[in-house]
Amino acid sequence: MTDTDEKMTWIGAPETVPCPPWCGGRHDEAHPVDRVHWSVESLAFEPVLADAEFERIGEETFEVPLRLLVTMTQGFRELGPRVTLAPESTVHGKGFAFTLTEAEKVARDLLRLVEEGRATLA
Ligand SMILES: [Zn+2]
Repeated sequence: MTDTDEKMTWIGAPETVPCPPWCGGRHDEAHPVDRVHWSVESLAFEPVLADAEFERIGEETFEVPLRLLVTMTQGFRELGPRVTLAPESTVHGKGFAFTLTEAEKVARDLLRLVEEGRATLA
């Protein structure tokens, strides 16, 4: 599949498009046009090297540790899913959404870097 194949495309009405097998949603939305299929969290963790951010509410400041979520979503009219790497709290930013091809490239590059890094530890 190429990036061109994965461009988000508008398709049929929500009641005619079944949930993909990976969807964990129950879809009781009042407005089906807002329907988004979502994966059950496949990964959620606190990266050891990530710095916490601080959020000020009124006179108090709260530490917000970074908890990273890796999930997959698909709007009801989108042709394919997107893989997202996003912090649980927007205090840390919005994160990133990738096409499947992009997510595969990131995954392969991460594995290659891990392999190269571990080779220097031996
Ligand atoms: Zn669904």
